Amino acid sequence: MTKATIKQWQKGELYETLCLLLIGAGIWFVGIALGSFDVLQDVVQAYRLGDFMILGACMGVAICGASIRKSIMMRRLMLERDAAAANAEAIARHDGLTGLANRRRFLEEVERVRKLSPSEASAVLLIDLDRFKPVNDLYGHAAGNAVLCAVAERLTSLLPQGGVAARLGGDEFALLVPLNHGIEGLTRLAQGVIAAIATPIVWSQNELKVGATVGVAAVSADQADADAILHAADLAMYQGKKEGRGTYRFFRSAMDEELRARARLEAELRTAIEQGAIEPFYQPVVALPDKAIVGLEVLARWRHPERGLVSPTEFIPVAEETGMISELSYNLIRRACLDARDWPPHLILAVNIAPHQFQDVWLAERILAILTETGFPPGRLEVEITESALIQDLEATRATLTSLQRLGVRIALDDFGTGYSSLYHLRELKFDKLKIDRSYVDAITMSDERAKLVDAIIKLGSSLGLATTAEGIETDASVDWLSDQGCDFGQGYLFGRAMPKPEMDAILAGLFDGKPAPDPREAIPAEAIITLARAS
Ligand code: C2E
Ligand code: MG
Ligand code: MG
Repeated sequence: MTKATIKQWQKGELYETLCLLLIGAGIWFVGIALGSFDVLQDVVQAYRLGDFMILGACMGVAICGASIRKSIMMRRLMLERDAAAANAEAIARHDGLTGLANRRRFLEEVERVRKLSPSEASAVLLIDLDRFKPVNDLYGHAAGNAVLCAVAERLTSLLPQGGVAARLGGDEFALLVPLNHGIEGLTRLAQGVIAAIATPIVWSQNELKVGATVGVAAVSADQADADAILHAADLAMYQGKKEGRGTYRFFRSAMDEELRARARLEAELRTAIEQGAIEPFYQPVVALPDKAIVGLEVLARWRHPERGLVSPTEFIPVAEETGMISELSYNLIRRACLDARDWPPHLILAVNIAPHQFQDVWLAERILAILTETGFPPGRLEVEITESALIQDLEATRATLTSLQRLGVRIALDDFGTGYSSLYHLRELKFDKLKIDRSYVDAITMSDERAKLVDAIIKLGSSLGLATTAEGIETDASVDWLSDQGCDFGQGYLFGRAMPKPEMDAILAGLFDGKPAPDPREAIPAEAIITLARAS
C-alpha cells in the first residue's frame, strides 16, 4: 500500500464516521421533534444521565449498524478473494487445453513422491508425440488441439489409481505412476500408451494419426530432485526416438554419460573448427598400372590437444548432425587449395562433401568463391559425393552437381557399392568417376564373388564412360588384378596413408624435383563463372 492510498483510505474513513455521526444527530433531532424519545427521556431524567445521552446513543447505534454492514461486506469480499485465489491456483497448476496437470504441478507431485516413498516405488513415463507437427501443419491448430485433447483423455483412462497425468507443454505428456505391478506392469503400461495414442483420432471426418515414444525413469531418492528424474525419462525417450520412434525405453545411467560425452564432443568440435584445429591430410591417388601420383584426396583430421589425431569417422557425423559440417568443409577446402598451390599443377585435389551440403543451393557459388580467393583452378578440383546424398532431394543434388560441373569441377561417386545408388542415378547424374569401396577391394584376392563384383563395377564404369578408382589397396596382388581388369586409378595404404602437408611436400619434392617447373596457375575460366551465374 502506498502512502497516498493510506491517506485516501484514512480520509474516507473520517468522512464516513462524520456522516454516521450526522445521521445519528439527525435521528435524535427528528425523534425529539416527534416526541419518539419521551419514554427514554423519562429514564434519562430518572437516572440523571445528562441531556445528550440520547444523542450519543443515536450516534452509537448508527455507527454499530454501519460496522455490522461493513463486516458483512468484508466477509463477502474475503470469500470472493479466496475463490479467485483457488481459481488462479487451479489455472497455475493445470493445462488450460487438456485439463491435465501442468509441468509445475507434475514436478511438485514427483518431488513429493520422491521425498515420501522408499526407493523406486513409483515411475515417470515421459511421452512425446511422433508426427504431431505434420498434423498441425496440414490440418491446422484446431486439429492439433483435438489430437492433444484426445491423447489426454486416453492417458487419463490408462492412468492407474494414485497416478498423475500431465501435459508438460507442446506435444509432451507425462505420467507419474505407482509401481504396483513391478517392471512388467510398467512395460505393459508403456505399450498400452503407445497403442492407445497410435489409434487414429477422428476429427472433422479426417483420421488423424500420431504416434508416441515413451521414456521411463524410476522415481528414486538417489536422484537429486524431480527435474533430474524428468531429465532421466527425457534421455530414455530421446534414445527411443533415435532408435526408431513408436517405442519405449527405460533409463540407464549409461545414457546420461553418453549424452554428456556427446555434448562435450560437440562443444570441443565447435571450438576446434573456430580455431582451425581440423586440418587437411592428403592421401595419394595413383594411376594404374604405372602407379604415378595423379591426385590427392583431402581427408580431415582433428588435432586434439589431449587425444592426438582424431579420425573423421568420429567427428564428421557429429559435424553433420549439428550443422557444423559446412563451416568445417569450407575451411578445409580453403586450406587444401592454398596447400596445393605449391604442388605440381597436374595433381587433382579430391574433397569429400557431405550429403547434406548438396541441399545447399549456394554450394557451387561458395566453392567458386574459395577457388577464386585461393586462385585454385576448378579443373583441378574433384568433389566426392557419397551414395546417401542421392536418396535425399535428388533434384537439389542434381542442380548442385550440374552447377559444379559447369565450373569445370569433376564429380566422383564415393564408396560405390555400399549405399543406394542405382543405374538410374548413374545415368541421370553424369558422374565423372566411380570410387569402388574398399570393402570390395579388400577381398578381391580372397573371394571370387567379390572379385566378380569389382570386375562388373569396372566394366559398368567404362561402359558409361566413367573412370574408376579402387579404394583401400593394400597389396601388390590387388594392384595387378585391378590393372588387368582395366581399373584406372588406385588409392590405399600400399601407395601411402593420409599425411599432413609437410610430409606430402617432402614426397612430392622427391618425386618431382628436377622436373619442369609447374605451369603458371590456370585462371578460373570466365565462361564458367558466366554459365554459373546464368544457371542460378
Ligand atoms: P572416404 O572418403 O572413403 O576416404 C577413404 C578412407 O579410407 C579414409 O579414411 C582413408 O584413410 C581410408 N583408407 C585409405 N586407404 C586405405 C587402406 O588401404 N586401408 C584401409 N583400411 N583404409 C584406407 P578416413 O580418413 O578415416 O576417412 C573416413 C571417411 O570420413 C572418408 O571416407 C570420408 O567419407 C569421411 N571424411 C573424411 N574427411 C572428410 C571431410 O572433409 N568431409 C566429409 N564430408 N567427409 C570426410
Ligand atoms: Mg572420399
Ligand atoms: Mg571412399
